Amino acid sequence: MAAANVAHPVRGGGRRGGGAPDDDKLVFETTEGVEPITSFDHMGIKEDVLRGVYDYGFEKPSAIQQRAVMPILQGRDVIAQAQSGTGKTSMIALSVCQIVDTSSREVQALILSPTRELASQTERTIQAIGLQSVGEDIRKLEHGVHVVSGTPGRVCDMIKRRSLRTRAVKLLILDESDEMLSRGFKDQIYDVYRYLPPDLQVVLVSATLPHEILEMTNKFMTDPVRILVKRDELTLEGIKQFFVAVEKEEWKFDTLCDLYDTLTITQAVIFCNTKRKVDWLSEKMRSNNFTVSSMHGDMPQKERDEIMNQFRSGESRVLITTDVWARGIDVQQVSLVINYDLPNNRELYIHRIGRSGRFGRKGVAINFVKSDDIKILRDIEQYYSTQIDEMPMNVADLI
Ligand code: ADP
Ligand code: MG
Repeated sequence: MAAANVAHPVRGGGRRGGGAPDDDKLVFETTEGVEPITSFDHMGIKEDVLRGVYDYGFEKPSAIQQRAVMPILQGRDVIAQAQSGTGKTSMIALSVCQIVDTSSREVQALILSPTRELASQTERTIQAIGLQSVGEDIRKLEHGVHVVSGTPGRVCDMIKRRSLRTRAVKLLILDESDEMLSRGFKDQIYDVYRYLPPDLQVVLVSATLPHEILEMTNKFMTDPVRILVKRDELTLEGIKQFFVAVEKEEWKFDTLCDLYDTLTITQAVIFCNTKRKVDWLSEKMRSNNFTVSSMHGDMPQKERDEIMNQFRSGESRVLITTDVWARGIDVQQVSLVINYDLPNNRELYIHRIGRSGRFGRKGVAINFVKSDDIKILRDIEQYYSTQIDEMPMNVADLI
């Protein structure tokens, strides 16, 4: 299947709202010799891909794109870290469009993501930039696709059933790579990796890359180019962070109800730590006549897809969910994140609040903290050298 060169309407007359996060303010620890390239025109990108990028509404590469696209296109192994919402996943999409040889009919790039929602979001971005031959359903694979974007479990399964042939795969990309290399996914990733050709190029991308993850990369990467953000640069200035002291668990619900009008100013995501809590909270909100959607990993995929579509289209405005939604999902209208429960680790905090403030937009994060949670909040504050103030009365004005 050849890459169809489809035209796409320019959205919103150029750059897609927001505003590129200020390049000058971003500090990277970068392998020597990596120079930022400030225009997509100077990256040696094929004309049809370049047109796809501009038609999609990108005018100028973001800071991470300026630094990481070239090494990826040159075939280097790359570890790329940058703040949430600064165009890492988009960079993956752009890179595979450029790298794939469309005169062949074989799968050449694998992109692995932790959730189906993120995998299909990436697939859609690739298609929007102009490469149609991406997919993971069996029928599509039979016709020949160039790029597969999926979750490790599913991709592994397809390889084992031989519906996905790996002999021509030259590029493996792990989006949200620290999550992918963490305990939950590690074995599946290794399973996939075993089937791939030895001269494989590997690219890792994430907003958070803890030391223990960086340390294990030498096992499957060769002399990688590293573009890393310092920890204290990781929170975005555009996202204001607050807390509400609720003292006891029982007070959270009333606090949330009081905030409902604020939630619906644009769109909001509310995070709970368990699926049961998501079910419980959504039921309780509904029985109090509030309109909310909810989603978690125990729901059938079809239902998850429907809820995603409704939320993406703006048909539903308040989503109660688990960490299944914490990573990678890009809905530009989300301007408020509520941690109904504080997340279980520091990385998750950054990912959750990063669902708002996409590509330089404004965002607000509100943490509900019980008395015994305050320690955890202060730890997060210190770890990222950021400031989490008590929620002001006029919080709605900040959205
Ligand atoms: P990340 O993976 O770093 O969280 P994404 O790739 O999901 O970021 O991009 C966040 C948002 O910014 C998306 O809506 C995407 O379309 C937009 N975006 C990415 N790169 C650019 C760019 N160079 N110019 C304008 N918008 C961009
Ligand atoms: Mg991403």
